[in-house]
Amino acid sequence: MDEIMSNAHPKQLQKSDTEFKIVWQDGHESAFSFRSLRQECPCAVCRDEWTGKPLLDPESVPKDLGVKKAELVGNYAVAFLFSDGHSTGIYSFQALRGLCPCTTCKTRPK
Ligand SMILES: [Zn+2]
Ligand SMILES: [Zn+2]
Repeated sequence: MDEIMSNAHPKQLQKSDTEFKIVWQDGHESAFSFRSLRQECPCAVCRDEWTGKPLLDPESVPKDLGVKKAELVGNYAVAFLFSDGHSTGIYSFQALRGLCPCTTCKTRPK
């Protein structure tokens, strides 16, 4: 198993009223606001499948957007039911690890 994949395994998933938190196998923690998850939605409606170009206007996502339900997809991804009714995005843990909004990850060279 390569290193990136093993880093992208969650040890713990927590959903609060305001955010979705993942504690990774290596101890790293990522806290995502529901709004930022919705803005990064990888489904074909929100993002061009081939170019990866966002089709969703991030400003159109309500500031108080919530998540009604978070569900595991196999053991590699998680799907959210957002309060705006959108539920087609499947977020792989690998992608979520890449989206980690903490300063350490944000400042790390890609
Ligand atoms: Zn979407
Ligand atoms: Zn991070």
